[in-house]
Amino acid sequence: MKYINEFRDGRTARHIAAAITRESRADRRYHIMEFCGGHTHAISRYGLSDLLPDNIRLIHGPGCPVCVLPIGRIDNAIDLALNRGVILATYGDCLRVPASGGLSLLKAKARGADVRMVYSSADALKLAQDHPAREVVFFAIGFETTTPPTAVALLQAEKLGLKNFTVFCNHVLTPSAIANILESPEVRLHGTVPLDAFIGPAHVSTVIGSQPYEHFAEEYEKPVVIAGFEPLDVMQAILMLVRQLNEGRAEVENEFTRAVTREGNVKAQNLVAEVFELRKSFEWRGLNEVPYSALRIKAKYSAYDAERRFGIEYKSVADNKACECGAILRGLKRPQDCKLFGTVCTPENPMGSCMVSSEGACAAHYTYGRYKDVSGPLTPALSPRERGEGDGRNAVGT
Ligand code: SF4
Repeated sequence: MKYINEFRDGRTARHIAAAITRESRADRRYHIMEFCGGHTHAISRYGLSDLLPDNIRLIHGPGCPVCVLPIGRIDNAIDLALNRGVILATYGDCLRVPASGGLSLLKAKARGADVRMVYSSADALKLAQDHPAREVVFFAIGFETTTPPTAVALLQAEKLGLKNFTVFCNHVLTPSAIANILESPEVRLHGTVPLDAFIGPAHVSTVIGSQPYEHFAEEYEKPVVIAGFEPLDVMQAILMLVRQLNEGRAEVENEFTRAVTREGNVKAQNLVAEVFELRKSFEWRGLNEVPYSALRIKAKYSAYDAERRFGIEYKSVADNKACECGAILRGLKRPQDCKLFGTVCTPENPMGSCMVSSEGACAAHYTYGRYKDVSGPLTPALSPRERGEGDGRNAVGT
């Protein structure tokens, strides 16, 4: 397929890997965080870490929208579905995230809650049109990629005069999370998470552009290379970061020029600005409360705000003590460091959010890590869809 196969060519990947090995200095280490779950997925699926020299360490970041959703927000959604008589429309990824009391949205559905899986915000809107006598709540989650479609659905609901459609808004912001990581004691004080550079998000950057990352390059002196989600994109971004670090540069570079501009998608940004405003604070799984890191619906659209209509109150809930998702999302630990990984906790029986979404670090390691082939061609391990374990269309992409 044009524009796909070119970016999965094994021979070219090995050429880039040879350049990385040649140009990386033996006397230093390179700690590179891939923020996005999409990159984590590509790195695991194509075994890219195995192509890199030992002194380059890839650290998984918190850019998996399902993983960073705290338990309290899932509890809120379950309460809506179980106790308020609504149709709760949700992306499939959210269904199995463990919540309080051993529940999940899927288990709530088994107890009679009307939870419907949708592929998009437009599907949720259609549900409201098809069921005028029922309240339909769209459980909106995700980074800047999924926020504009939520804004469109809400504006369309207004245009159509729909009175039975609301949005439970949980959209979060990438730059705030990066800043939180860079300001964390582990990075700034203790050095327990050495961080030299970032691979910047792909889809998120198509919306917000490359400009928001300039702050991190200037203020924190951390190079950022925005990369696409194909294996050659990631390899090329690593090479570009190695070069920046060797030359003592800290700049924002854009490897994903086929989709990302400095300004981003201004039309989408305007839609988001029309409908949403910043929350003062929002709890992220792993990162705790992060100031100005999420969006809420503006008062002028309060008729479509599920939090206002149903008086939703957020309560913070502690994670399962045995689950290391929080530390993994902060880059402190790897999935293999969790005692439950691959034994008690598997994608079929997830104990934490990082094992649920295909973009979660634990799920990516579990699904692809066991199919490692260092010497062969750059052949992707089969995805769950290719193994006939789901159609893969229900994921919330970063
Ligand atoms: S393996 Fe499971 S329990 Fe352990 S950190 Fe990952 S999601 Fe949490």
